Amino acid sequence: MTNILSVANQKGGVGKTTTAVNTSAVLSGSGRKVLLVDLDPQANATMGSGINKQKLENSIYELLIGTEEINSVLKKTRFGYDLLPSNRDLIGAELDLVDANDREYRLSDQISKLAYQYDYIIIDCPPSLSLLTLNGLCASSGILIPMQCEYFALEGLSDLVNSVKLVHSNLNSNLSSIGLLRVMFDPRVTLSQDVSAQLLEHFGSKVFSTIIPKNVRLAEAPSHGLPITHYDKSSRGNLAYQEFGKELLNRFST
Ligand code: ATP
Ligand code: MG
Repeated sequence: MTNILSVANQKGGVGKTTTAVNTSAVLSGSGRKVLLVDLDPQANATMGSGINKQKLENSIYELLIGTEEINSVLKKTRFGYDLLPSNRDLIGAELDLVDANDREYRLSDQISKLAYQYDYIIIDCPPSLSLLTLNGLCASSGILIPMQCEYFALEGLSDLVNSVKLVHSNLNSNLSSIGLLRVMFDPRVTLSQDVSAQLLEHFGSKVFSTIIPKNVRLAEAPSHGLPITHYDKSSRGNLAYQEFGKELLNRFST
């Protein structure tokens, strides 16, 4: 069975793309067939996978509005996983789809055509609870929420969890699992420790045990168009995402 996971959090800059790209690279490095879906007009997952967003013939925009077939949008990356790339055109999708009656299911309908080819499909969502994110959630069986352990992080989290519940009951009953990943963690900050403890208290086993530390190599890698697996194997960032990959595989095989 294909596991389809949306990496989502309506807060900006919390590590969604870093998690989506590096998890895709780690899982494909361990022999899984992986598709990464860039659902953000910023196209950071596309660029971070070494694909130039300015040179795309077709992007996920054409796929969502129905003018191109999925095979003419799909790209192979140099890192083992495939990619549905994005660019700024995707900004227009929200407006173009506003009157379409199946507008939340455009992505789901398209990726279901080739989902059987993959073990994991990872969807990098934009920082909003928009129609694009809804398309991600409607295509997914799980949501992976990267969290920075800061004071306001918990506040946004309840909105997000409520949205997931609404999607589950109204749009996609397959959306059943929630996983929280602590990222950009700095153990020297007392507040981070406190927020982390609160997360564990509220969400228990939904919180992955792996913690992704703050690591400058993770921040540098995208500017070279490389996942951390290929930018710096020995970095703490790579070791943490490798560990996370194992935990994810464990969680989904049981
Ligand atoms: P957006 O909401 O804009 O899509 P995002 O949630 O996808 O952002 P990222 O782009 O992954 O967040 O990360 C935000 C910034 O933090 C980037 O510059 C990224 O390189 C950096 N970053 C992410 N994770 C780490 C980390 N563990 N250590 C250090 N820097 C990190
Ligand atoms: Mg992003």
